[in-house]
Amino acid sequence: MKRLQQIIMLGLVSILSFMSCAPDAAAFEDDPRYERALPSADIIIDAGHGGIDGGSFEGNVLEKDINLAVAKKLYVLLNKSGFRAVLNRSGDYALSDDNRWLPTRSRHHRDLSQRSQLTKEIETALVISLHVNSGKNKATRGPLVLHQKNGQSALLANCIQDTLNKQQNANRRPKLGKPFYLLNVVKAPAVIVEMGFISNPEERRLLTDPDYQMQTADAIASGVRNYLLLQ
Ligand SMILES: [Zn+2]
Repeated sequence: MKRLQQIIMLGLVSILSFMSCAPDAAAFEDDPRYERALPSADIIIDAGHGGIDGGSFEGNVLEKDINLAVAKKLYVLLNKSGFRAVLNRSGDYALSDDNRWLPTRSRHHRDLSQRSQLTKEIETALVISLHVNSGKNKATRGPLVLHQKNGQSALLANCIQDTLNKQQNANRRPKLGKPFYLLNVVKAPAVIVEMGFISNPEERRLLTDPDYQMQTADAIASGVRNYLLLQ
């Protein structure tokens, strides 16, 4: 019965969130208040890659740029919904550049260490790590949410996968993430959101379109809201 109530509530919330118009994040870019992340948060938005680490790419389209663009929009949407959210990077730089305290030669290690350190320093409820997928088969498309090996992370992944599936007319199920540093190290419920495939020409075009980026951010924000309503 409780499950039925939850399903009905989720449905209602989804309908309401689709009815509400998405706030405009265009002013975000120029507002100096958003230059750096604030030191307290309930939700950390991890804009995957950055700086020298471009992530996956096709031609001159870089994953890191898509991740950051959607992350900024998600930041605005979540804060407008009354949640405290921070971005772990607000510009195009590698997190390893900030991380001078760790004496390791590996930039990648410094980067991952910095990402997980942020979640220790900040009292975090959730971590949403934004990425774009890439595959050999150019026809493969659609969103995929990866989760940790615990119920809260799996539930969060389900909620975000559902809203992304609706937005993109897809029918995927979330997956347990492979042993991936960020998911393993972070204690808070964390998910990796693969927002689409950069290797699929149509999705590549969509993912670089600001309107589509806003729709994607709105779907992720709805998923987060649905998850938090179940707590
Ligand atoms: Zn990535």
